[in-house]
Amino acid sequence: MSMARAFLELHELDQLLVQASDPTRAARWRQVGYTIAAAPTLVRDRERLAVTLDRRWLGVYERCLGRYGKGLSTVRKRVCLGCRLTLPTSAAPPPGDAHLHVCEGCGRLLLWD
Ligand SMILES: [Zn+2]
Repeated sequence: MSMARAFLELHELDQLLVQASDPTRAARWRQVGYTIAAAPTLVRDRERLAVTLDRRWLGVYERCLGRYGKGLSTVRKRVCLGCRLTLPTSAAPPPGDAHLHVCEGCGRLLLWD
């Protein structure tokens, strides 16, 4: 798994943890047929994943997670979907090469692919 994909998985786990720790949201998911994994399982999966990640990127991610409730944002057509900043062409990765970047607008870790 690439580092970019691993961070996307971490992001998804963190969003699931928010859902799992909110009984109202968990009930809503159940109504539409989903079962959310129990929070302790998610926490364990998260810990296992976190130790495999690059420390520097993880630091950026964790800081933004604490600040905004989300540590990762995605880019579409050079625009950060977290803060709508248009990123310079020079920052774009080579085609087909998903990579990580830090948004200069909001400081979030950007998944750019
Ligand atoms: Zn941004």
